[in-house]
Amino acid sequence: MKFGGTSMAGTERIRRVANIVRAQAAGKDGEANEVAVVVSAMAGETDRLVNFCREANALYDPAEYDVVVSSGEQVTSGLLALTLQSLGCKARSWLGWQLPVKTEEAHAKARISSIEAPDMVASLEAGEIAVVPGFQGITEEGRVSTLGRGGSDTSAVAVAAAVKADRCDIYTDVDGVYTTDPRIVAKARKLKAVTYEEMLELASVGAKVLQTRSVGLAMKEGVRIQVLSSFVDDDAALADDLPGTLIVSDEEMDQMVERGEMERQLVTGIAHDKNEAKVILTRVPDKPGAVAHIFEPLADASINVDMIIQNVGRDKGETDVTFTVPQADLARAQALLEDRREDIGFNRIITDSQIAKISVVGVGMKSHAGVASTMFRSLSDRGINIQAISTSEIKVSVMIDEDETELAVRVLHTAYGLDAEE
Ligand code: ADP
Ligand code: ASP
Ligand code: MG
Repeated sequence: MKFGGTSMAGTERIRRVANIVRAQAAGKDGEANEVAVVVSAMAGETDRLVNFCREANALYDPAEYDVVVSSGEQVTSGLLALTLQSLGCKARSWLGWQLPVKTEEAHAKARISSIEAPDMVASLEAGEIAVVPGFQGITEEGRVSTLGRGGSDTSAVAVAAAVKADRCDIYTDVDGVYTTDPRIVAKARKLKAVTYEEMLELASVGAKVLQTRSVGLAMKEGVRIQVLSSFVDDDAALADDLPGTLIVSDEEMDQMVERGEMERQLVTGIAHDKNEAKVILTRVPDKPGAVAHIFEPLADASINVDMIIQNVGRDKGETDVTFTVPQADLARAQALLEDRREDIGFNRIITDSQIAKISVVGVGMKSHAGVASTMFRSLSDRGINIQAISTSEIKVSVMIDEDETELAVRVLHTAYGLDAEE
């Protein structure tokens, strides 16, 4: 069971969570469950801690940043264990270094390499509820690390894989995965199931209900995920009755469709991302090696480039190159490119953070034409200008003006027939 920030925001909310955990541990018809719980920091706490780091030192050391920002989860894991104890349950916390959750690669965006939890498994078998702070781990050198924002989802999937859990229930502030962010489109529909592949794509293009890495890990380890709400009454359906959204394999989805539990849709969901920025390099020499010169230094600096367009060459053997990078990396990207102005041979760098990426995702696209053209037509009918396009086998993304994000998502939601009936 994993509980996110809003579910853990304060004593009252934590008591609510403890009740849900206690009921799950007690199980149905007297058959008790062994339960491990992964928790996030209280809503807003991680942002607050990140700001302290920025104030202390603008060019902060990621290793010390991890020491600071991992602390929010330490607080909530202890508080949940205390609250469970007050309800008469046996419970204890297991911090990242105690399990241990071993990580590799960079601080602040570490990757879990292994979880060995023999002591925790023994304690679960002895009937104790395990409470694990999400987001945190320990490096090879024995220092605290964190998994990147939203990383508690990944902690939960990793713990589920380590203890070979029957299911990983991700409790949040919405009751499942919707056709689009239900906070933007009131007519969004809850999905009974989504395939790993589609969820991975949706998460990577901005549906932050699950961290992208958690879905990749679940797919690799075969962990069954359910997304559901912790904001429920005592008489709500049990998690075992699967009231939320299941993340399933293609085969399982086919079976659900055959049984009439799911309908095949051309488009499964729509996501938006306002965290990218556009970079235009003008008058780049139109010759072999030119784009390699631009993107190599960015790759070396671990800056992810997403959409790329090379415009039609001008007459003097020059061209403009447009691409997107995460807004958080824009200043670094700009500095790196300025440094290499001579090598690359461009004239000007133009940047714009006021853009958004809107994506439509669905496995149906593999076998059906026309998804992209519907997107372009619907947006143009509303006068929304498309600045760049990128596609994958199951996704089409467009870059538009940030101010038009909500309108575009709504228009597309209707255009693909995803709106819930009134
Ligand atoms: P938690 O703190 O529990 O980890 P998050 O804020 O990370 O919760 O994720 C839940 C939020 O994800 C929801 O409140 C919702 O606004 C947003 N969201 C974005 N896209 C979707 C979607 N397709 N379905 C459901 N929620 C979505
Ligand atoms: N508390 C961390 C964050 O806000 C991790 C998480 O909540 O998943 O990013
Ligand atoms: Mg989250």
